[in-house]
Amino acid sequence: MQSFDTIILGGGPGGTTAARILARAGKSVALVEKNHLGGTCLNCGCIPTKMLLGAVAPLALLHAQQRIRVAKGEIAVDFAALQTRVSRFTKGTSQTLGKSLASLGVMLFSGRGEAIAPGTIRVHAADGHTDIKAQHVILACGSSSASFPGLTPDHDCVLDSTDLLGIASVPESLVIIGAGAIGLELGDFFSAMGSKVTIVEAAPHIAPLEDADVAAELRRALQKNGITCHEGARAKDLRTVNGQAQLTLDDGTVITAAKALVAVGRTPNTGGLQAEQLGCKLNKRGYVETDTFLEAAPNIYAVGDVNGRVLLAHAAEHQGAYVAERILGQRPEEYQSGPVPSCVYGGMEVMRVGQTADTLLREGKNVKVSQAALSLNPIAQASGGTAGFVKTVWSDGRIAGIAAVGAGVSHLVMVALLLIKEGYTEQNLHEIMFAHPTLDEIVSMSILAPRARVEQN
Ligand code: FAD
Repeated sequence: MQSFDTIILGGGPGGTTAARILARAGKSVALVEKNHLGGTCLNCGCIPTKMLLGAVAPLALLHAQQRIRVAKGEIAVDFAALQTRVSRFTKGTSQTLGKSLASLGVMLFSGRGEAIAPGTIRVHAADGHTDIKAQHVILACGSSSASFPGLTPDHDCVLDSTDLLGIASVPESLVIIGAGAIGLELGDFFSAMGSKVTIVEAAPHIAPLEDADVAAELRRALQKNGITCHEGARAKDLRTVNGQAQLTLDDGTVITAAKALVAVGRTPNTGGLQAEQLGCKLNKRGYVETDTFLEAAPNIYAVGDVNGRVLLAHAAEHQGAYVAERILGQRPEEYQSGPVPSCVYGGMEVMRVGQTADTLLREGKNVKVSQAALSLNPIAQASGGTAGFVKTVWSDGRIAGIAAVGAGVSHLVMVALLLIKEGYTEQNLHEIMFAHPTLDEIVSMSILAPRARVEQN
């Protein structure tokens, strides 16, 4: 049986980051991937969605100029050409990733990994199986679209995000169940391409994890662009009927559309993994439980979506790097994520680092907010996208969170993160010179703006 220092299951951002670090340090590494290297992020997640949104982004900017009567004429995106470009790009990048890992000495196994004993993995490939063993195992198997009884993609008219990303033509209408980042981004794209989009969200507002004012501003923008939003509306049944998606809500309302997208969350890829054979425990939702060192059992680690901590690509990478360095003996300390940045991309974007006022109020904290409107910013004015604002959330005199909504605000996420991480307040912000004119300046304005106390509703 071939033996390695580390076996990594899953070639997404978590697994490939760990593989690269370990191989560069001279460790023998086996990377097992059942599908395509690059994982969800490259093949059916972050990258294809951003390539689609990137193609329509100039249209939104030009339409804004059209509204202020300084641009005219028609320009259109060729959907078939765009799909070909996305597919070529993701396939090519996946191949390049494979070559670069192989050049570092990573042994790539193409097949599904199954744990059969502590430290031993069986790789099921098209032509049979191989058993390999290692001193360390990193589970980086990621997650897949979740579905619920009555809300299960049939891959005909009821689709998951991977189906929708690969669709051959723009559906004339699209109903989306779930207004998290995935539902919102795909809704924004298909709306820009001409679909009549309806979004249904069970929580009180779209972007349920975000500040209610941020969500309200986003909803206004989506509705202005012709997207219908049903908030606090629970989907009961969704199926293909007579070649159309038919959605029935709890209150009996029936919505039909050419296609439906189920975007109600993710589920870990732990089915058939037999992680218990490695000594791991799965929680009720099937995620691998980890301790404060991301260890699931002695010498067995779980990183990225599969441990259910934060379902974002940069979190998977950050955890993959920590675990690899820990295996190398370089990280004796507990895993610390630091503030986690998150964004919703599209014509109208959302970004947040840290806590929302609501979350802090629920924890019984004293909360104040200071805010600056994007309309005060010259770069926002130049692009014609002045709707939105930046909100700074204060608790005990420190910045607990910064959130923004507006065109291009995803670009503010790292400045917000660094300001929070370095503990800046209005007292020492003068130590930083903000370039002028930049969108970043609106973050500084929001920190320096008068603060208002927030009370629980
Ligand atoms: P994954 O990327 O899911 O990779 C896991 C890999 O493991 C997969 O390739 C899978 O085939 C493989 N695998 C699973 N089981 C086995 C097994 N038993 N044996 C061998 N291989 C196995 N995140 C962001 O941060 N920003 C975004 O903008 C963003 N946009 C997204 C858009 C969409 C539509 C979706 C679906 C997700 C998006 N995400 C985004 C989330 C992001 O893709 C994930 O958080 C990230 O890919 C998780 O990385 P990972 O390494 O944990 O797992």
